[in-house]
Amino acid sequence: PGVQIQSPITDYLAGLVAQNSKDNPGANAAYIPELAAVNSDQIGACITTVDGYVYGSGDVGVEFSIQSVSKPFVYALAIEEHGLDWVLDRVDVEPSGEAFNELSLDGKQLPKNPMINAGAMTTHSLIGEGTMTVDERFEHIRKGLSRFAGRELGVDEGSYASELATAYRNFSIAYMLRNYGAIKAEPGDVVKGYTRQCAIQLTAADLATMGATLANGGKQPVTGEQVVSAETVRQVLSVMTTCGMYNEAGHWVCEVGFPGKSGVSGCVLGVLPGNLGMATFSPRLDEAGNSVRGMRMYKQIAKEMVLHMMLPP
Ligand code: GLU
Repeated sequence: PGVQIQSPITDYLAGLVAQNSKDNPGANAAYIPELAAVNSDQIGACITTVDGYVYGSGDVGVEFSIQSVSKPFVYALAIEEHGLDWVLDRVDVEPSGEAFNELSLDGKQLPKNPMINAGAMTTHSLIGEGTMTVDERFEHIRKGLSRFAGRELGVDEGSYASELATAYRNFSIAYMLRNYGAIKAEPGDVVKGYTRQCAIQLTAADLATMGATLANGGKQPVTGEQVVSAETVRQVLSVMTTCGMYNEAGHWVCEVGFPGKSGVSGCVLGVLPGNLGMATFSPRLDEAGNSVRGMRMYKQIAKEMVLHMMLPP
């Protein structure tokens, strides 16, 4: 467990990567200078099973910043800390159908869900709210994500600095949140902490293993640690299913049919409860901000392996 192994699954992933490497449409995220500069030819796909075996092909050992894929894991940490009902009073769970960086609140003046930036920054601020310093909050998050991955994760300082220097949109969201009382912390601190959270660095293999922890009811398959409870996982995977793929969440659930979350660095996390975590990495994004080749690989594997949750096995 924990080591990449060779098998028919690896051969399948190699075929998936090769078939999807033929063209490379879309564009790297342009609004974060550091991401615009990433080698866009990279492509990888990785699977970690709930018994801890890792299968990968392509660029599965290359580090990238986690970006939005941090959101479900930090949501899990917030629920573990405060309980679900308390968190639901601060961040709703309705799909928004809006862009990830929309300045919006619902009728109760709550962020609509934890997967859009308004909800993700609020969720970030809930960690140690009123008790932790800004640095302690970030460290708690970094350590928490590391427990999901089963190894110590670091920070891509270049990506952090580059995103923070141009984070005007997220600053405006955070000031809106503070104005309506959705967050209690200083907006500037929340943007800095959240941006640092997005800059946590990992590989597709790490991400697949984090997904396997979710697939395994919150128990890390290699270290054996119960990172979060099964009830927390139920909540997180439900929200990923309805809100995980930006404005393509509806198309994703129809065509792929299991919980997913994408990030603007080009990573996509997929979770098959009880079975496995999967991660793809390929930097070029479609209009909605999802990795073009990542989406294709998920659609292909869902179809070929009959993984859609609405289909009988
Ligand atoms: N750090 C990015 C932002 O807040 C994350 C966005 C994403 O991956 O969707 O703009």
